[in-house]
Amino acid sequence: MEDFDFVKRPILIVEDEPVNRLLLAGMLEENYEILQAADGREAMRYIEKGEDIALILLDLLMPNMNGYEVLRALRERKLLTQIPVIVLTSETSAEVQSLNLGAIDFIPKPYDAPEVIRARVRRIIQMSEDSAALRRVGQDPLTGLFVPSFFFRRIERIERYAPDRVMDAMAINVNNFHLINNLYGRACGDDVLLILADALKNEMEACLGVACREHGDNFYLYMEHHANPEDMLIRIADGVRQRAGIKTLRLRMGVYPEVDRKVSMEDRFARAEHACQTLRGNYTRRVAVYDEEMFHNESFANNLLESFDEALAEGQFQVWYQPQYDIRGDVPVLSGAEALVRWLHPRYGMVRPDKFIPLFEANGLIARLDRLVWHTAASQVRKWHDEYGSKLSVSVNVSRISIRDPRLEEDLLDIAQHTGIHCRDLVLEVTESAYADSMEQLVNTVGNLRANGFLVEMDDFGSGYSSLNMLTSLPMDALKVDMKLIRHITDSEKDLHVLTLILDIARSLALPVVAEGVETQAQFDLLKQLGCDRIQGYYFSKPVTAFEFSHFLVQPTGKPA
Ligand code: C2E
Ligand code: CA
Ligand code: CA
Repeated sequence: MEDFDFVKRPILIVEDEPVNRLLLAGMLEENYEILQAADGREAMRYIEKGEDIALILLDLLMPNMNGYEVLRALRERKLLTQIPVIVLTSETSAEVQSLNLGAIDFIPKPYDAPEVIRARVRRIIQMSEDSAALRRVGQDPLTGLFVPSFFFRRIERIERYAPDRVMDAMAINVNNFHLINNLYGRACGDDVLLILADALKNEMEACLGVACREHGDNFYLYMEHHANPEDMLIRIADGVRQRAGIKTLRLRMGVYPEVDRKVSMEDRFARAEHACQTLRGNYTRRVAVYDEEMFHNESFANNLLESFDEALAEGQFQVWYQPQYDIRGDVPVLSGAEALVRWLHPRYGMVRPDKFIPLFEANGLIARLDRLVWHTAASQVRKWHDEYGSKLSVSVNVSRISIRDPRLEEDLLDIAQHTGIHCRDLVLEVTESAYADSMEQLVNTVGNLRANGFLVEMDDFGSGYSSLNMLTSLPMDALKVDMKLIRHITDSEKDLHVLTLILDIARSLALPVVAEGVETQAQFDLLKQLGCDRIQGYYFSKPVTAFEFSHFLVQPTGKPA
């Protein structure tokens, strides 16, 4: 449809008067390929052959098979939605009848206004192609909104006609949409998306903007610059909350305002989305605007992504280890270590995983990094066993992506075999949010891993949307309580209460509990008193290199100096 002016569409002229056929052909042949039929039967032959016809100009009164019969035949074959028909007629009553039969428009005889005819033909072909193309690929089947590729092209077209307008690109997202799916069911989730799409459509109609569903619960808007987009978002969210009947539903929005037209369409929305991402986990703000700082962060992120392969090849990733102590006895005893990756970047120096793990998770690179870390950690365990006769196990992080990888089990078994360790020496930390994403699948995966002898711990418990009853239905070997929950146990009654509750339930399930991020003596004492099994945190040690870690192996009991 975009190349409307360059491709000659075929038009079938069905008319028994040769003069009329010639007249019409003459008006149109410059812009269209003309097919001619002298009666309905001949016309049907073209159609049955499956000829790609953009439009039919149909006379009504003809020998053999007249225009009404052609319309009926087309209707029976359900072809009228694909091929628009304009009826050629001289009487008003016939016009009404043929419109009723499914003709889309009519051209009155005699043909004395060529420019009107050309304009009609052009408009109808365009309309029909627009809607046909949309039905095929341009429209999101659930919401009826544009899909991104069409959306982008639509914007390009708008911009051709209004090159001076100042526009905003926006990304809208439902907070914790997966929870709506999990709690209320997919059908309800679909409803929410439909209602939201509808609200966006209405909003955009009012301001000549366009909306698109990017995927899942991600939507894009493109509209004339809006001084206060938050008002708009509040209005939309209120409407959706009400119609969907979900009081807790929240929307967030990222805005890339006053777009620079030199920035590609994809990048404009990537910026809006980037702004939106910064709101993740933020419950006080719902709108974020893309700015200079984000631009710098983004180029930092891009540089990291681009240097990933090089970093792997040149061994810039290092694995550090943080000790874990069993605190059930009189003195703490070294019980394990968590492997934590570090990036010694030639330009940025030591980069913390918080800066790059989320990036690599977003594009799948994390799967490769995970394997490097697992392999390194497993080889290290083997070395420690050999050199120090230790029985230490090492915990590794399994990213959200890796835990869904069908080859996970095979890869881990390979690593264990290659490095010559027992599966039980590799503890797999699976983050709580991965469980929340899709319980059922994870229960299976984790079940298989444990059947192979790997130990599996739920990481970051209490950092997100864990529910306590999740614990009863999931197979795992230990629970690792997130440091956010530990931080305030000595000064917040509430946090202490929550932690006590978790410990009680874990105890009733015979599930060992690891507390991480323990920094102070007071936290340590309290956790010991509450019956926590193991502890990891600065109280004992920060993560250190493999070399430095040997200190702990030499003296595995008591608090390290
Ligand atoms: P995590 O798995 O929750 O790891 C614990 C993080 O807490 C580590 O940060 C550790 O250095 C830090 N930490 C430990 N004790 C304390 C403490 O007492 N106080 C404070 N304030 N922090 C403490 P790190 O190494 O920066 O890792 C951050 C996150 O990055 C990790 O959180 C994990 O989600 C991810 N990560 C790290 N290494 C890997 C890896 O090899 N693979 C994958 N997939 N993710 C990794
Ligand atoms: Ca971890
Ligand atoms: Ca953790």
